[in-house]
Amino acid sequence: MMYNGSRATAVTRPAHREPMNARWLPHFFLKLGLAGSLLLCLTAVAAAQTAVSPLRNEALVNYPNDVRFVLELPADTAVTRATLRYDVDKTACLDAAAQVPVELTATDAGLTADWTWVMSRSGNPPPGTTLWWEWALTDAAGNETTTPRQSLTFSDDRFDWQTVAADGMTLHWYRGDVGPLLLEAATAGLARLEDDMGIQLQNDVQFYIYGSAADMRDAVLYVQDWAGGVAFDEYNTILIGVTPDSAADWGRSTVRHELAHLVTGQFARSCVGGYRPTWLEEGLAMYAEGEPTGDILDALNQAQADNSFAPLRSLNGSFPAHSEAAGSAYAQSYSVVDYLLTTYGRVPMQELLLALAAGRSADQALQQVYGLNVDGLEAAWRAAMGLPERPYPPTPTPISAAAVPTIAPMGRPASLPTPAAAAAPPPDQPAAPRIEICGLGMIPVLLLGVLGAQSWQIGQRRRAK
Ligand SMILES: [Zn+2]
Repeated sequence: MMYNGSRATAVTRPAHREPMNARWLPHFFLKLGLAGSLLLCLTAVAAAQTAVSPLRNEALVNYPNDVRFVLELPADTAVTRATLRYDVDKTACLDAAAQVPVELTATDAGLTADWTWVMSRSGNPPPGTTLWWEWALTDAAGNETTTPRQSLTFSDDRFDWQTVAADGMTLHWYRGDVGPLLLEAATAGLARLEDDMGIQLQNDVQFYIYGSAADMRDAVLYVQDWAGGVAFDEYNTILIGVTPDSAADWGRSTVRHELAHLVTGQFARSCVGGYRPTWLEEGLAMYAEGEPTGDILDALNQAQADNSFAPLRSLNGSFPAHSEAAGSAYAQSYSVVDYLLTTYGRVPMQELLLALAAGRSADQALQQVYGLNVDGLEAAWRAAMGLPERPYPPTPTPISAAAVPTIAPMGRPASLPTPAAAAAPPPDQPAAPRIEICGLGMIPVLLLGVLGAQSWQIGQRRRAK
């Protein structure tokens, strides 16, 4: 399914319907009646939309920290209340504009509404994101008018960006000559996703290649200080810090890796609480990087020699923090995904991703598609690797799909912040809550969802390579 960045749109009134008994009415009276209704409507609209001409209507961006919205009205305005509405373009299961009532204060200019969206409270959208805003203005009689919607695009103006584009992907960079090289890597990664997995890009992707990890981290609030790349699923945007001397090796594989996360997320977006086990998520991304590197092969050989692979089930969740164990977990994940694709092909892989997106547990989805649960898959993979059987504890009762927490379950860490909810409400006037959850009826598990999403993000989404 394809999800476009959703946004609030003006409410469309249902078209007038001809009454059931209209065919018995003389046409003349019908037309007269309709014309009269129309006239009344127009009059009402004209009365409601009292002309308001702001002296100033601006959004001042201090990226990535905050956006200050300023509205100035003439002193003689009839407006008594102002509500700011804003949103950013992104892909989300449920998305609504933020609505913030803002106090009007008398200033030299007249009446001023001044409010700041503090992005530093929960994270910022990536560069390239479009923000729109408008003001709903109400007079004492309750007549409301809305200022024309305006928009701007967040940009990281610290650097002089260059751009290359191909195949629905646009890559921005500023240091060295890395752009074409990395775009070529992205194109190759996309081809592997399409050829071997049948997964295609559904929404255009933006890459921002920073000249160093430090430069990149300064563009993202609340990113781990070790992060070298961050993908913003909901914005279809990937940020990576790539020094020119690391571009050919680390840069290329990381571009492919992060792109795979994004494209897989687009293909199997879940609005019902589905999630992918980490071994599958990371294994697919490793697979998309191309032929395994020496590191991966070394880790595989070592674990095979020691018979030290982790139980696959233990890799459903977060990966080990310890770097050596994490390396082994990535290598194992790659190997299991490679086994699935080599043995069964791409169609079952797509079915698996869609079953997970539909809310099935890893056991249920694997059983449905391959006739094996997680332990059964592990046993088959171990046999194919020539490893001895591993005794399995009883399979735990699968968590029912309905109980699986869901906040942007397949979302990236940085896509978790929802700008409106992150915004500070003005004093005494709470902003309308805007909670972005996938699927309804999930409010009771919201907190659980946040915790789950956080562990998901820590475990899976940001990877120091
Ligand atoms: Zn990854």
